[in-house]
Amino acid sequence: PMPIITSPTDAIIKITKTTICGTDLHIVKGDVPTVTDGRILGHEGVGIIDQAGGNVSNFSVGDHVLISCISSCGKCINCKKGMYSHCENGGGWVLGNLIDGTQAEYVRVPFADNSLYPIPAGADEEALVMLSDILPTGFECGVLNGQVKPGDTVAIIGGGPIGLAALLTAQFYSPSDIIMVDVDDNRLEVSRRFGATQFINNSDGKAVEQIMALTGNRGVDVAIEAIGIPVSFDICQAIVAAGGHIANIGVHGKPVQLNLDKLWSRNITITTRLVDTVTTPMLLNAVMSGKVQLRQLITHHFALKDVMQAYDTFGNAMKERALKVIISND
Ligand code: ZN
Ligand code: ZN
Repeated sequence: PMPIITSPTDAIIKITKTTICGTDLHIVKGDVPTVTDGRILGHEGVGIIDQAGGNVSNFSVGDHVLISCISSCGKCINCKKGMYSHCENGGGWVLGNLIDGTQAEYVRVPFADNSLYPIPAGADEEALVMLSDILPTGFECGVLNGQVKPGDTVAIIGGGPIGLAALLTAQFYSPSDIIMVDVDDNRLEVSRRFGATQFINNSDGKAVEQIMALTGNRGVDVAIEAIGIPVSFDICQAIVAAGGHIANIGVHGKPVQLNLDKLWSRNITITTRLVDTVTTPMLLNAVMSGKVQLRQLITHHFALKDVMQAYDTFGNAMKERALKVIISND
C-alpha cells in the first residue's frame, strides 16, 4: 500500500535505489522477533521526497535524499547525546523492523529532518546506498569503538559488506597492518583490493594460531567482530593484545562465553553498539571527495519487481560472489 503521513514530522520518499542487508536475512530466518508478518523490509536506500509533513523544515518535495537506517527525533535525552539508535520518541532502528521499510516503491520516514540527508549534486546515487547503514556501522561500531590508531595492528573477523566497510574506514587512521579473516577466498581477495595487508582463511579453524604467529605472539591492538557468532567472538578474545580493544559489530543470536579468567588483567576494552549514524555527514564528505570508493562494494543489480531473485542471490552470497545488491525502482 501507498504509505501515508501519520505525523507532521514524516516524509514520504519515492525510492530510487535500495538494497538488502545481512540483517534482512536474519529477519527472514525468524531471528528478529520484533518484525511481524507482512512487514515490508529494508532500512537502506535513496530517493526523492514525494510528500513532506507540515513540520518538516529541512527538506521539500522533490529533494534527493539519503535515508538513514536509524530514524531519530533529535530532541530526546539519548538523541541529545548523539545516541540516535536509542531515540526514546519512537526512533532508532524502526524502518523495516517496527514500521514498513525501504524495499518498496514508497516509504514513510519518521522524523524526516533528522533522519534524511541531502544528496549533493553529481553524487553517485548507487554508491550512496552504502551510507544508509554499512559504512557508518563499520566505522562507528568497528573503527571508532575499536579506537584504531596510526601504526596499530587491526584484525577484522568477517569479510562481508560490514567487515569491508570497517576495512575501508579503518584506513582513515593509517593502521600498519589489517588482517582479514574469513572462510571464503573470494572475499579475502576482495579485501586485498580494499586495502587489507594479511589474509587468513579460517576454514581449518586455525586463525588464532596464525594471527599470533603473524604478530610475534603479541596479538592485535584492535579486534573487530563483524559476523555475530560465538566462534568469531572467541577469536577476538584470543587475539587481543594487552591494552587492546575488542569492538563487536555482529548481531548475535546466541550468548558467547566471556573468558574473563584470561582477560581480567589485560587492560582491554570490549565495546558493543548499534550504529547511531552520527558520522553520516562526515562519511558523506569522505565519499564525495573520493577518499572512500564505495561503488566497489556493489556486485549485482536488480529491478524492484525481481526482489525475490535479489534475495536468492544475496542469500547465497558465497556461491554468487555477492557483496551488496542494488535494487532499482525505475
Ligand atoms: Zn542493515
Ligand atoms: Zn530521540
